[in-house]
Amino acid sequence: MASEYRNIYTLAMASPLSIAACYAFVPVDEAALAALREDLMLFGKKIQLQGLVLIAPEGVNATVAGSAEAIQEWKAYVTEHFGPTVFKDSKSEGKVFRRWSVKIKEEIVGLKDTSIRPAGRHRHLSPEEWQEVINKEEVIVLDARNDYETALGKFRGAVDPGLRTFGEFTEFAQSSALPKDKKILMYCTGGIRCEKALLAMEAAGYEDVYQLEGGILAYLERFPEGEFEGECFVFDHRVAVDQYLRPSQIYDLCPHCGDPGDQMIECFCGKKKKICSLCQKDDVCQTCSKRCAGELRQKLARV
Ligand SMILES: [Zn+2]
Ligand SMILES: [Zn+2]
Repeated sequence: MASEYRNIYTLAMASPLSIAACYAFVPVDEAALAALREDLMLFGKKIQLQGLVLIAPEGVNATVAGSAEAIQEWKAYVTEHFGPTVFKDSKSEGKVFRRWSVKIKEEIVGLKDTSIRPAGRHRHLSPEEWQEVINKEEVIVLDARNDYETALGKFRGAVDPGLRTFGEFTEFAQSSALPKDKKILMYCTGGIRCEKALLAMEAAGYEDVYQLEGGILAYLERFPEGEFEGECFVFDHRVAVDQYLRPSQIYDLCPHCGDPGDQMIECFCGKKKKICSLCQKDDVCQTCSKRCAGELRQKLARV
């Protein structure tokens, strides 16, 4: 029995994990969210999914990993519950998520403004259309992501709004000095943030705004050697992907602040680790973990 299990396990590890990311802005009855969460938890456990699912009155946002068969079942589940949904597929040789979790949220992407409710395709450009427009027309390209993401890479010449969190976007849109008579092309990682950011721009009086459908990830799939420069931050253990969508060789998550780090240090405990350039300025953070940082802090206090 035990060896049979081991065989199954080895087999599972040998074939890469399938990953499916999706979002859908579909109204969900607030009273039904708790039951939906329960159902999703059971469903995921039954077919051994890992990943994170966010559900909210405005819809669903999920990145889920599992066997190829399990991902097929997952897609059928999502389509049944939320209607036709576009999935972004990828593969990973290693584990992507530690566990299966389903969370109830106010929003599936945190603009901190529930009055903005995307509905249906609105001013989308496919990667092909996007490529054509940025090469042919005079446009402003606007990055809707956070500062630790733009620091790793962005579209050539893109405006960086300098956000620490996406919740700051509405304020940026309202106080922005960007000209209202120019065409603005917006993008984010996978497209979901732009669904809201574009509406926030419209609410602030921008009329000629468009969003990149499927975000940077869809663009790189089509144009790896196009206008996107550097790496693209992703919200899983890969930290970032390069222009060919391969896991980053440059960045690791800084153990002190969680931002991407590319500064290799050797901790007093002997471990090597990459930390971010901001934390590198702090002596106590020349360490491999929060725990070692704490120890070092105590040692320094005693001196
Ligand atoms: Zn840091
Ligand atoms: Zn250490």
